[in-house]
Amino acid sequence: MENLSSEIVVVGGGPAGLTTAIALAGVGIETALVASSSSRAENRTTALLAGSVKALETLGVWNNCRQHAAPLRMMRIIDDMGRLLRAPEVRFDAREIGLDAFGHNIENQYLCAALEARARMLPSLALIEDEADEVLIGDDKVTVNARGGGSIVARLAVAADGRQSLCRAAASIACDVRRYRQTALTFNLGHCRAHHDSATEFHTQPGPFTLVPLVGLRSSLVFVVDPAEAPRLMTLSDEDMAGEIERRSHSILGKINVEPGRGIFPLVAETARTFGARRVVLVGEAAHVLPPIGAQGLNLGLRDAATIAELVVAIRRQGSDVGSPELTDRYEHMRRADVMSRSIAVDLLNRSLLSDFLPLQAARGLGLFLMGRIGPLRRAAMREGVAPAASQPRLMRGEAL
Ligand SMILES: Cc1cc2nc3c(=O)[nH]c(=O)nc-3n(C[C@H](O)[C@H](O)[C@H](O)COP(=O)(O)OP(=O)(O)OC[C@H]3O[C@@H](n4cnc5c(N)ncnc54)[C@H](O)[C@@H]3O)c2cc1C
Repeated sequence: MENLSSEIVVVGGGPAGLTTAIALAGVGIETALVASSSSRAENRTTALLAGSVKALETLGVWNNCRQHAAPLRMMRIIDDMGRLLRAPEVRFDAREIGLDAFGHNIENQYLCAALEARARMLPSLALIEDEADEVLIGDDKVTVNARGGGSIVARLAVAADGRQSLCRAAASIACDVRRYRQTALTFNLGHCRAHHDSATEFHTQPGPFTLVPLVGLRSSLVFVVDPAEAPRLMTLSDEDMAGEIERRSHSILGKINVEPGRGIFPLVAETARTFGARRVVLVGEAAHVLPPIGAQGLNLGLRDAATIAELVVAIRRQGSDVGSPELTDRYEHMRRADVMSRSIAVDLLNRSLLSDFLPLQAARGLGLFLMGRIGPLRRAAMREGVAPAASQPRLMRGEAL
């Protein structure tokens, strides 16, 4: 790569970085995306809520995702704690809030392929297949030096480089980190009974066991276990693993077939102390990592991307510098409440499962009981889940930038 000058440089080609780059370049803003191709293979899936799907539609990405994405029309929560206080099953039906589906579940490989295909169509987007090696922040510019040689000079760097963000470190932004004594195992499964577009979350003592529909007779599973149990489970044969999953899911999907490729993720929560400083803004997991409970992580990441793009367009219209503190301050202000409210909710739910503290168990049980019984409360929870009051950027509402 030769030396390049661009208005914005996005570092990291995961789903958050690709979406940010597409949103910016899609309205003609000169953008460079530094993305190493080696990092994209994985078989994780993502439940994208309705606002995220709407944003991907608006950005011209969803057409290539649609055939690989399964609608989530119903969500069931089943208390499988085996404790004295057992909450009743709660069902959330998207039709109750006038939606056809809460969102769609898609394998990350298809989502990233659709994003990459769209990115390659945009003349204002320079794709640099390399890794950022060094990020230097000056008063009026930021320089990203690539591992393979060459550099990009820009007014603003968008850090989409994940948990170990180099850009975040360069901007001296610290993170609050919480480690849980839990590990998430991920699998994709075939099964013989239909899922009826319904996701099922069993609340068990080590954590949630969540089945989310994929297209056809397939589902993805996030299975949260005690770290001490993970090595044994990970070394089970496919047949034994299938039996274990069938038992823990009470056979609701019938006979299970475990597909090749298993993932293992120690549960951790991380939140950057600020989401923007010194010509660097953080999106996706560079800004926040949540335990994979309640499908929040990337939905937050896409709202980060949509917010950044909206702010950059507004600041340019004013004729101001897109890397100015005005942008980083406004971004921090617009994202903090959304990120914190989701992080706290996921943490509380998770702790209520782990806790032996009876009042906390009772509060969780009562919350689920009330949710099941009181329609307006249930509908309010569903609406907040799909379209958070704290953040509805234009792209999530289907409006162009
Ligand atoms: C088990 C599990 C299940 C989940 N399920 C859901 C779900 O259902 N719904 C949901 O919304 N979220 C879910 N999440 C969260 C979601 O997967 C993450 O939020 C999302 O993948 C983060 O995307 P990202 O682009 O921010 O980061 P990443 O996907 O980590 O991408 C970062 C990219 O930056 C690259 N990079 C790093 N350093 C550099 C560098 N120096 N130069 C260039 N590139 C660099 C990396 O190689 C990588 O490609 C789940 C997470 C887990 C673990």
